[in-house]
Amino acid sequence: MSAPTYDLGKLHGGLRLPGHKEKSTTGPIQNVPIPSQLILPITQHVGDPAQPVVGIGEHVLKGQLVAKPEGALGAPVHASSSGTVVAIEPWPVSRRFGEKGPCVVIECDGEDRPLEFEQAAEDYASLPPETLLARILEGGIVGLGGAVFPTAQKLMQARTCEIDYLILNGVECEPYISCDDLLMRERPAAILSGAQVLMHALQIDACYIVVESDKPEALNLLGVALAELDDDRLVLKQVPTIYPSGGEDQLVQLVTNREVPSGGLPSDVGCLVQNVGTAAAIHDWIINREPLISRVTTVTGDGISNPMNVRARIGTTIADVVEFTGGYSERAEHLIIGGPLTGKSVTTDRVPLVKATNSILVVFKSSFQGDELACIRCGDCASVCPIQLLPQQLFWYACADNEDKLRQFGLLDCIECGCCDLVCPSHIPLTADFRIAKGRIRELADEKARAERARHRFEARNERLEREREDRDAELARQKESAKKAGPAEIAEILKRKQQQSEDD
Ligand code: SF4
Ligand code: SF4
Repeated sequence: MSAPTYDLGKLHGGLRLPGHKEKSTTGPIQNVPIPSQLILPITQHVGDPAQPVVGIGEHVLKGQLVAKPEGALGAPVHASSSGTVVAIEPWPVSRRFGEKGPCVVIECDGEDRPLEFEQAAEDYASLPPETLLARILEGGIVGLGGAVFPTAQKLMQARTCEIDYLILNGVECEPYISCDDLLMRERPAAILSGAQVLMHALQIDACYIVVESDKPEALNLLGVALAELDDDRLVLKQVPTIYPSGGEDQLVQLVTNREVPSGGLPSDVGCLVQNVGTAAAIHDWIINREPLISRVTTVTGDGISNPMNVRARIGTTIADVVEFTGGYSERAEHLIIGGPLTGKSVTTDRVPLVKATNSILVVFKSSFQGDELACIRCGDCASVCPIQLLPQQLFWYACADNEDKLRQFGLLDCIECGCCDLVCPSHIPLTADFRIAKGRIRELADEKARAERARHRFEARNERLEREREDRDAELARQKESAKKAGPAEIAEILKRKQQQSEDD
C-alpha cells in the first residue's frame, strides 16, 4: 500500500480548533431501532419542493416513494420503514427549511417490510451516463455533507463542463462531528464503490479521496480497501487538520491548487466534490437497491450521556435518537442540529432527523456564550476568513442594510464558516448577521425577478391586444372595400358575419 500524499495547506486563514471528537469515536456505529412514528419532511434538499404521492390511511413499504420532486431541481423522499400514513401536515423541522414544513407522518408497523423493486440492480458500467444519472435521481440521493444539493443534478451540471477530478470529501473539519470518520472506518469499500459509480457517471478516470491527518484509522482502513480494490484511478490524499478545509472551494484549492472563482463552482475549475457519505449512499442505491432512507449521525456534546455515532432512519425524531443513546446529561441546555459553527439551534427535540442531519449536538449553554460588545476594529476576523473577506466591514454594511456595499464586499461569497465569530473579542455574532443579510438580499432578488416576470407578462399582453386590434381594423377595411362592390345578397352575408362577430366579442 502506497503512503498517502501529504499536502501542505494552501488555505488563507482558517483555524486549528480542538476537535472534541474522542468521546463519540470510541465505539462502532450503533443502529437506532425503528421508531413508533416517522416524520418525513417532503422537502429535504436544496431546490424545488417535492409533492406527496401518498394519501392518509395508505399503507407504505420501506423504500416506497412518498414524495416526488417537482421542477428542475429536486429529489424524491422514500418511506424509511413500513407502516400507515396517518397525517400529511406541517411539523417543526430543523435546518434551512423554516420552522415548520409539510411532513408525511407514518405510524410504523414494526415489520420493516421492504418494497420489492421491479427493476433489479443493473451493471452500472454498462449504462450510458444519462441513464445512470436518472437512476441516481430516483434513489433520493442528496449531498450528505450538510448541503443536501440533489446529487443527480449536480452531476448533470458537471457534465456540461470539462471535469478532471472527482474529489471525495472525507475532511470532516468542524469540531464534534465524526460521522464521516466512522463511516470511512467501517465502510471504506462502499465509499470506494460509490466513487467508481460517480466516475462512470462523469466519464472520468481520476478521483482523490481526501482525509484529514487527525483520522489515522480512517486513512489506514481506506488504504487497505484501496489496495484490495487495485484501481489506480483512485488516490488517497491526507491534508492537514485546519478548519474549514472541508468547504468545497477550500478543498479544491488544497488538493489541486486551483482557485474557484468568486460566484463560481468547483466544476468551473474541472473538479466535482462529493461527500464520502454521499458516495456510500450511491453504492447502497445503485448496487444494493436501497434508496436514501437512513444516515449516520453524531450524537455528542457535554449534554449527552453517552456520545456516539448512530445510523438512524430518516424521519426518526431527535428525541428518539437521543433516548436510544442513553439520554441527556444534567448539562443539557442547548440543542444544535449540525456542528457548533454551522449548525442551527432548535428549541424542541421533536424535530425529525433529515438527510442533512450530520450531528446532534447538546451543550451547556454558557460554553458558547459571551456578551456582545462594540467592534474595536482589531481586524482578527479578517485574518482568519478563508475567503479573504472583511467581516468587520460586512458587519457595518449589514447593520446599515446597504445591499450594494454588501454585494461589493463579497457577502455572497461568505461560506458561513463561523471563524470570524470564534476570534471576535467583542463576541459579535457576525455569521448570524451575515446569514440574515444574505437572506434579505436573496428575498430582494426574488422580488425583483417576480416584478420583472410580471412586467414581461403585462407587456406581452399589451402587444397581443395591439396585434389583435390591428388585425380587426385590417379586416374591417377589407370588408368595407368589398361591400362597396357587393350586390344585395353579399351585403346580407356581410351584415350577418358582422353581427356574429359582435356577439363573439
Ligand atoms: S463566516 Fe464568512 S466572513 Fe466569517 S470567516 Fe467565514 S467566510 Fe469569512
Ligand atoms: S474581530 Fe470583532 S472586534 Fe475585531 S474587527 Fe472583527 S468584528 Fe470588530
